[in-house]
Amino acid sequence: MTQYDVAVIGSGPGGYVAAIRCAQLGMKTAIIEKYSTLGGTCLNVGCIPSKALLDSSHHYEDAVKHFEEHGIEIPGEVKVNLEKMITRKQGVVDMTTKGIQFLMDKNKITVYEGLGSFKDATHIDIKKNDGSTETIEAKNIIIATGSKPSTLPFIALDKERIITSTEALKLKEIPKHMVIIGGGVIGLELGQVYKRLGSEVTVVEFMDRIIPTMDSALSKELMKTMKKQKVKFQLSHKVKSVERKGDEVIITADNKKGEEVSFTADYCLVAVGRSAYTEGLNLEAAGVQTEDRGRVAVNEHLQTNVSNIYAIGDVIKGAMLAHKAEEEGTLVAEILAGQKPHIDYNLIPGVVYTWPEVAAVGKTEEELKEAGVAYKVGQFPMRALGRARASMDIDGFVKILADKETDEVLGVHMIGARCADLITEAVTAMEFRASAEDIARMSHAHPTYAEAVKEAALAATDDRALHI
Ligand code: FAD
Ligand code: NAD
Repeated sequence: MTQYDVAVIGSGPGGYVAAIRCAQLGMKTAIIEKYSTLGGTCLNVGCIPSKALLDSSHHYEDAVKHFEEHGIEIPGEVKVNLEKMITRKQGVVDMTTKGIQFLMDKNKITVYEGLGSFKDATHIDIKKNDGSTETIEAKNIIIATGSKPSTLPFIALDKERIITSTEALKLKEIPKHMVIIGGGVIGLELGQVYKRLGSEVTVVEFMDRIIPTMDSALSKELMKTMKKQKVKFQLSHKVKSVERKGDEVIITADNKKGEEVSFTADYCLVAVGRSAYTEGLNLEAAGVQTEDRGRVAVNEHLQTNVSNIYAIGDVIKGAMLAHKAEEEGTLVAEILAGQKPHIDYNLIPGVVYTWPEVAAVGKTEEELKEAGVAYKVGQFPMRALGRARASMDIDGFVKILADKETDEVLGVHMIGARCADLITEAVTAMEFRASAEDIARMSHAHPTYAEAVKEAALAATDDRALHI
């Protein structure tokens, strides 16, 4: 039986990063993945394919709506070739997943294809696709089995017309009307893809605002811009049934007033969150405990109740984000190597890759209010930037929340072009516990969207934004 210092179950961004870091630190490492491609949800059916479709559909929208204004004329009609778009997306996915295989080889990590299942706390049975089982032994084991789409108890997902994000990434036709249950990250990103491609899109959200965990100013601004893009929103709606009748799906909900309303669509995307995935792992054989919503319970070192078994990423508590999973993979590897790593969960940024992009780090205004922290706000609109006008992406703003007494930056919330990349400045500043004035005094290249960060910091420091 082959023995390892570490075996990682699951090859998503948590698992493969953990494996690489373990190998870098000199541990003999194996990774087990049930699918034939590495990279997990993120690379196969998550971050990468959704961004590929967001980018393709964005190009199409620009060609149809904005090229003319830029003085670019296209003779004839601009058309979508959905099949080609999906094929390109798959090409990007394939290239990226092969890249992970390359990294495994480079770092001399043994890859096992098969379902990993605990035999006991130090042995894993790997059930391979050919029906055979191989057992390996590992001193330490990292559970990185991720998550799967959640649904509602009364919904029968048929994966044809009543679908999750996985199917929405490979549709064979452009829906006439897509009803999306859930105005969170997936619903809005994929809703925007299909809206741009020509579908009517209706988002039905249970709460009274979209992206309800983010700062409410971002919810308002994103909804305003998406309404301009003709996405329809039904907030404060409690969906109670989803029924397929032939090629139609009928979605029934109670609205805010308690009245029953229904929507008819040809596709219904269910995007109400994701849940931890531990099926087939046989956690009981190792004695590993779970907590609420089936997540693997861990302590602050991401160690389970069984001392040589750790868990990371979507399968444990916290934000379900690829970069959070990656940080945790690194953390566990370094703990195993005897180091003392640390993650500041408050500084894990969140991004919605709609256009305009939405990005945030630190505390929201709602959280500061609830905690009774005295704060000040500096906000700067994108439309006041020369760069925004040059590219005609003028929607959005940067908002900085700073401590009223110390001026320390407590939260940065932004919406606008390229905010997914801009947020890193805020993360860096907050990692170094910068004050708003620290940011305000840094030179920001002109003309850039980043100037909005400086201006918002100036506004927070002393209400002294320069360009408004
Ligand atoms: P996963 O990526 O889910 O990987 C777990 C792996 O474990 C899978 O490959 C699975 O097959 C394997 N596995 C499970 N059980 C076993 C077993 N018993 N044996 C062997 N293998 C097993 N996050 C972002 O940060 N940015 C984004 O832009 C973003 N976009 C997303 C878009 C969509 C449509 C979706 C669905 C998700 C998106 N996410 C995004 C979330 C992100 O994909 C997850 O947070 C991330 O993949 C979690 O990583 P993980 O390593 O914990 O698990
Ligand atoms: P989410 O938690 O972001 O949003 C789910 C939404 O559904 C929420 O707004 C919630 O209020 C709503 N909802 C829940 N029950 C409902 C009901 N019965 N009726 C109507 N609305 C209901 O979840 P998601 O969008 O499914 O995404 C899943 C996970 O994947 C998230 O945790 C997210 O972090 C991750 N993800 C991240 C990105 C990114 O980082 N850009 C992109 C996609 C997915």
